[in-house]
Amino acid sequence: MTLTVENALVVPVADGGPEWFQGWLRVGDDGRIAALGPGAPPPGPPGGEVLDVGGAIVAPGFVSAHSHLFTSGLRGIAPGSTLYPWVRANAEVFRHADAETLYWCTLHGCLDFLANGITSAYNFTQSRVTWLYDPAAAASVPVEVHPVEYLTRQFDGAADAGLRVVNAIRLDDGSAPEDEVLGTFAEMVAASAEHTPADLHLGASVFGAVQWAESPRTAELETKVMREHGLVNQAHFVETAEQLDVQRSKFAWYAEAGALGPDLVFGHFVHPTDEMVAQAAAAGCGMVWQATSNGRLGSGFADVVRLRRAGMRVGMGLDDQSCTDVSDPFGNMRMGLYAMRALHTDAAVLMPKDVLRLHTLGSAEVLGVADRVGSLEPGKLADFVVVDHRSPSTGPVWDVLATYVLACGLRNLKQVYVGGRLAAADGRATAPLAARADAELEARMTEAAAKAGLRPALYP
Ligand SMILES: [Zn+2]
Repeated sequence: MTLTVENALVVPVADGGPEWFQGWLRVGDDGRIAALGPGAPPPGPPGGEVLDVGGAIVAPGFVSAHSHLFTSGLRGIAPGSTLYPWVRANAEVFRHADAETLYWCTLHGCLDFLANGITSAYNFTQSRVTWLYDPAAAASVPVEVHPVEYLTRQFDGAADAGLRVVNAIRLDDGSAPEDEVLGTFAEMVAASAEHTPADLHLGASVFGAVQWAESPRTAELETKVMREHGLVNQAHFVETAEQLDVQRSKFAWYAEAGALGPDLVFGHFVHPTDEMVAQAAAAGCGMVWQATSNGRLGSGFADVVRLRRAGMRVGMGLDDQSCTDVSDPFGNMRMGLYAMRALHTDAAVLMPKDVLRLHTLGSAEVLGVADRVGSLEPGKLADFVVVDHRSPSTGPVWDVLATYVLACGLRNLKQVYVGGRLAAADGRATAPLAARADAELEARMTEAAAKAGLRPALYP
């Protein structure tokens, strides 16, 4: 079955082509974009479906290059806390959750992403090991080990939601002998692919944890599994403003382990030194920017203007749903764009088309999945959003990209397609489990939180 989208204001975000055109897009029966172009579509195969969007914007589904998709049940938690006290509030609850709870939390988080126009995500799964951060040591300590299903059920939740994912898996070295953690890691890399339909599985990845490690050995082990399994590693790094000397000193651990290169991506990278930026850029490392999360947690301004000028590749992410409380890619783009303009006192320092590229194709590039997602081009997976700038009306269109990025929002997002199939409409995911996921999340999070001594303000 093919799908032809017609009467569209197409914003392809493809390098080298037009920024927009009025035309059509055709999806083949393989779920990939067969062709697109201006004007009216050529006749399609008989029996194909036609979607007339009546002049609405059709753009690539958003890519969140950094997210933790099990946390949508903890929105509003620790509302005045910086990163580590906030992380602890999350960890204490999930310490008491079981594998089935992690399944429903992930399913809910992924459906929420789809409903908001995000069609691909890098997912830092919650580790089987509950780690608690010790600020005095600037390191994490393992306090609890959960069964394997605690992790594999997160893979299942994302798969059942129908979101495309890169599953990031933590090595958890320091929680068991090295041979054992390496063996378990390999099993989980295989499980990520086994538990996820091939077209939804963008890959597995290393959940880099050197920032919270006690010794350089963690960097060596991460580098070993990156090479062995051919994986990208995304590492949270210099996210917060405290203990900067200690945080920054661990950059050398990655450098000395030989990890710097296109397969190493720094999450946040809010407080790097000039030397770190120069080294990371020269090696081809990417970074992922969480503008909303960095504001919510008081982490600081990641100066992506500076990082891009230095030559670093940049993607954007929505981070946890418990710190980017609304997973709104439009809000995230604007938050970031406005913050950079204010920081540099320059209204042209980042333009709508730049920030749109960062949250789509740029994010796909840093994750190494731009061959499949991130833009509307023939051969790519047909993941797109239908955004109607006339409902509610945003007025005359003076500049298509500016209208899309600056004037549109979730209220204009009408439909979301993954592989040419409807995944969400009018703010709701179409997956059969969506209604049940809401109820399961509420009940299960309340139960897990109660074991941690935490009760919702409104308790039935
Ligand atoms: Zn994160």
